[in-house]
Amino acid sequence: MSAKGKIPISRRGFLRACVAGGAALPLAAVAIRQARGKAKVEYGGVFYEVEARFWEGAGDKAVVCTLCPRKCTVPDGERGYCGVRENRGGKYYTQVWGNPCALNVDPVEKKPVYHVLPGARAFSLATAGCNMKCKFCQNWTISQVRPEKTRNYALPADAVVRFAAKYRCQVIAFTYSEPTVFYEYMYDTAKLARKKNIKPVVVSNGFISAEPMKELCKVVSAVKIDLKAFTDKFYRDLTGARLRPVLDTLVLLKKQGVWFEIVNLIIPRFNDKKDDIKAMCKWIKKELGPDVPLHFSAFHPMYKLKNLPRTPKTTMFAAYDIARAEGLHYVYVGNVHPAGHKAEKTYCPKCSKVVIGRSAYRITERHIKDGKCSFCGHPIPGVWS
Ligand code: SF4
Repeated sequence: MSAKGKIPISRRGFLRACVAGGAALPLAAVAIRQARGKAKVEYGGVFYEVEARFWEGAGDKAVVCTLCPRKCTVPDGERGYCGVRENRGGKYYTQVWGNPCALNVDPVEKKPVYHVLPGARAFSLATAGCNMKCKFCQNWTISQVRPEKTRNYALPADAVVRFAAKYRCQVIAFTYSEPTVFYEYMYDTAKLARKKNIKPVVVSNGFISAEPMKELCKVVSAVKIDLKAFTDKFYRDLTGARLRPVLDTLVLLKKQGVWFEIVNLIIPRFNDKKDDIKAMCKWIKKELGPDVPLHFSAFHPMYKLKNLPRTPKTTMFAAYDIARAEGLHYVYVGNVHPAGHKAEKTYCPKCSKVVIGRSAYRITERHIKDGKCSFCGHPIPGVWS
């Protein structure tokens, strides 16, 4: 997590905000009083006894988790692959409801999500755990560990919404690790946020089963999916997952009519071939349409791929040109300096004028009114109000 553009919430500041907000009680006590399930202190945080959704009994007290395409079979007393969902006596529980380990206020542009309330503050949170094992993960210290290994806040769903309002956030973003694995916490928070007119945004790897994603679409305002590459080999070798379920999720999002954007991290030698990028853009246009924003993001040496170089600027802008030539209307390039280049801006596909100007995470100009280009009146898709 880079510090740029972020307002970190320290534990002390967070507790102070609790008290200032009228909750003049120790934080754990506040949390326990508001918990959805039974709560008890465990692993340096608070364990809320919240039953997991999307699982079936498999006999002999084993369960099958159907939340994501892994469909883990989990014996009594054990956890699934993601390390945060546990079988206790033949019943399945989430271990992370109300226990985020990362809280920050970020610009929504940092997710990156460009067509949702430009310039909005996003109350961003994550718990431990992930259902992939990406060798290039930026947040591996929280995504690749169990919740016992992270320092957790005690923050039930209603408290998240309260704090988002307190920090003047119009968006709550489920981000950093993989929100699929903290599905119940995300779902409950999103439902409450909508009632307070705060937009829930999911930042996901898209490796989720269809039923939970359909349910989620009913309570969230937007989704960002990492389409990490366009070959199954990349997914198998570098993430431990598969490509097809992620493509299925994108098609499902299109059918559900929820707003979504795509990010593709370009890693030198692994997914930077022009033919693969072209094939991906063709697929996006054919299956999802030309209006889905596509963000190319530059790789920085990280985690298990520290031996690789950064993605050269030339590769990034070549990808941009390919996507534009294939007919995608909203293509962006991130993580490339200096900020303020042409590929950070949103252009009207009809009159080609800049409708939203950006420089890194700052909005420099905006010309969208009632969802339309202020110059020619052409509709610009997104969540603008
Ligand atoms: S969500 Fe976790 S436990 Fe469930 S199938 Fe996926 S990896 Fe396995």
